Amino acid sequence: MGKIVTLGEILVEIMAQERGQSFRAPGPLIGPFPSGAPAIFIDQVAKLGQPCGIISCVGDDDFGWLNIARLQADGADISAIQIHPDQVTGSAFVRYDSAGDRHFVFNIKHSACGHVALTEAANALLVECSHFHVMGSSLSAPAIIEAIKRAIGIVKAQGGTISFDPNIRREMLADPAMQAALRFMLASCDLFLPSGPELTLLTEADAEPAAIQEILAMGVAAIVVKRGAEGASYHDRAGFLHLPSFPAEEIDPTGAGDCFGATFVTCRLQGRSIEDSLRYANASGARAVGVRGPMEGTSTFAELDALIAGSQGATA
Ligand code: ATP
Ligand code: MG
Repeated sequence: MGKIVTLGEILVEIMAQERGQSFRAPGPLIGPFPSGAPAIFIDQVAKLGQPCGIISCVGDDDFGWLNIARLQADGADISAIQIHPDQVTGSAFVRYDSAGDRHFVFNIKHSACGHVALTEAANALLVECSHFHVMGSSLSAPAIIEAIKRAIGIVKAQGGTISFDPNIRREMLADPAMQAALRFMLASCDLFLPSGPELTLLTEADAEPAAIQEILAMGVAAIVVKRGAEGASYHDRAGFLHLPSFPAEEIDPTGAGDCFGATFVTCRLQGRSIEDSLRYANASGARAVGVRGPMEGTSTFAELDALIAGSQGATA
């Protein structure tokens, strides 16, 4: 079986320590944590023992090396991570308001991330790719969008499949080029992985069932809607299946969707049933929210099996 590959930002995340903390005044921060939605995704794929790699770009600095070391230790192919001599690794500063909503200050577009390209090493990785995953958050610059489109062309020509998680942060939506790229991705993917409100963001329909029909009619084979503490629902032309989440103490929700998507995609590619894949993905999301730090909560199959076994009855 070929590799799962993604292309996009590697970041460090630095977070405000207290809920309700402002970024307009000094306050305690923790981090740097390895981060970036595609990086979290590929780390989770790697932890499941699936061959995988990421096409990205970091600076020759501690933030870049922190990420490379983590991804390599967890088993991801890092050969297509370019180390840019004149750029600084991207970053995301996150704070939680008193209602628990997240607010980000991103440095993506104007960091090393903005220089992600299909290098020779990236093309070599794509030759081995049987599934390519795209995060909406990666569609931040015209050159990256172009690289993603070329990568999709290569993978599809090899008979591979594509998944797409819109992963839209309101801080990113102002960009019209990104809007067009999000629509291109929706039309190009085999598996669409929105979280609840993202389902209707790119459709004519503004109600969920109509949006699902609209997206399936575009040729998308399957949709999995992530619903936070409510679990997740799978839809394809043959029907749908909803599975509730596993009980979890929500310590840090960032990265749950990425871990969920990575686990679902890996399980399906490895031939598991829709129901088993959805259950593993819910378990992966539940583990991710229980740990502080976006990439700190990635899981092995043994850890997912233990969580599932430990909560049998609660999910019946
Ligand atoms: P992200 O913020 O990482 O982009 P997302 O919005 O893409 O997240 P969510 O729906 O928040 O995705 O979470 C993904 C999955 O993680 C859910 O479908 C669920 O399985 C699990 N999950 C999330 N929050 C909780 C929770 N509070 N309790 C249990 N499971 C959860
Ligand atoms: Mg998400």
